[in-house]
Amino acid sequence: MTPPRSIVVAGESIAGITTVRELRELGHAGAITLIGAEDCGAYARPPLSKAVLKDDRADDTLGYRLDGLDIDLVRSPAVTADVDRRVVATANGREIGYDALVIATGARARRIAAPGQRGETVLRTLDDARLLRTRLDAARSALVVGAGFLGLEIVSACVARGIPVTVVDVDPPLRRILGPFVSEAITTRAEEHGVRVVTGGQATLTGDPVDGVRLADGTVLTADLVVTCCGEIPNTAWLAGTGLADLHGVGIDQACATAVPGIFAAGDITCLRTDSGRPGTRTPFWSTAVAQGKAAAASALTLDPAGPPLDDYFWTEILGLSIKVVGPLPLPGEPDLVEGSVPGGSALLTWIGQNGQRTVVSYGKRIPVPKLRALAG
Ligand SMILES: Cc1cc2nc3c(=O)[nH]c(=O)nc-3n(C[C@H](O)[C@H](O)[C@H](O)COP(=O)(O)OP(=O)(O)OC[C@H]3O[C@@H](n4cnc5c(N)ncnc54)[C@H](O)[C@@H]3O)c2cc1C
Repeated sequence: MTPPRSIVVAGESIAGITTVRELRELGHAGAITLIGAEDCGAYARPPLSKAVLKDDRADDTLGYRLDGLDIDLVRSPAVTADVDRRVVATANGREIGYDALVIATGARARRIAAPGQRGETVLRTLDDARLLRTRLDAARSALVVGAGFLGLEIVSACVARGIPVTVVDVDPPLRRILGPFVSEAITTRAEEHGVRVVTGGQATLTGDPVDGVRLADGTVLTADLVVTCCGEIPNTAWLAGTGLADLHGVGIDQACATAVPGIFAAGDITCLRTDSGRPGTRTPFWSTAVAQGKAAAASALTLDPAGPPLDDYFWTEILGLSIKVVGPLPLPGEPDLVEGSVPGGSALLTWIGQNGQRTVVSYGKRIPVPKLRALAG
């Protein structure tokens, strides 16, 4: 196969930027067009729910640099893709042809407000984070809907500011991903910090603008600030009619190739297809976006990717604890305690999954990521 001359990368965030850097790293000297949708350019999202909520000086530390990459940067969202003509159209009227296309348009926050209901607060973008920080400055009480990583990071920001906070979810905190053991430890820690943890049934938002939630049993809880953290939805609207995307995102194989020749995808927009044809898995974490950006770049250049399209490392910061995880999820049952103490807030835990693969969690314990990876084997 002849390597492509012109490559279009849609999505100016970690997956797209990694793709562009890797294309140059691998020696691609031809044209690269990077299409972005945010005026402020590319920035890191993980700090948005951590440092950025604490301190506005963090805003200036988030940007990704594009120096020396020699790209044509188009800051206007892609609105359509014509996969037969190999052209992407942008909102500002440009039509950009490509030999290879890498789709990296990520995801947006899933919203749960009723149609027309105003004032739902979410956290996905830098603008969202700035707005949330301002609202935290003024809030005397807070309600967080969703006790996953993001929800619990926002709960942590409330606790750090002394704002009484309730977190509401169908399941106990983090249980769906990290299993019952870590969930119970985090719930206990949250309650020790004065957080009210409410589980059971689907919550709906009340008020217009939003001022609280109604729980499944009819109980209504209200607060100055209500934030919803109910997952994310892949940004696939611009791919309508291409057959590239479904509800789960853009399906990719182990080389980040889509079903259409010459088109690849990376990051939160992707869904790794299974061989059996069952819906694949989404892994909307930073390290996987990097791994897929690298793999998509290699594949776009008709090279074999150096690594798999999945990096099962991620981290979070909850109630003063740094939690790092390497290995397959979700986590079943009780772990082995390798070191330390969970109630003491510093422990190293391992699980062996059904397939014999090991998952390692550092729970508040300072440990370099390479060491954690080595322990996972
Ligand atoms: C608040 C927050 C905290 C997080 N914390 C962690 C963490 O602690 N650890 C961790 O592992 N992961 C974390 N994540 C997840 C991590 O940030 C994502 O996995 C990562 O950002 C995915 O990168 P991406 O490039 O695929 O997509 P995104 O970061 O979603 O970027 C996609 C880009 O494409 C743009 N775009 C959308 N539509 C179009 C279009 N039509 N045309 C052109 N551009 C378009 C978007 O504006 C956006 O800039 C966090 C995410 C958030 C939101």
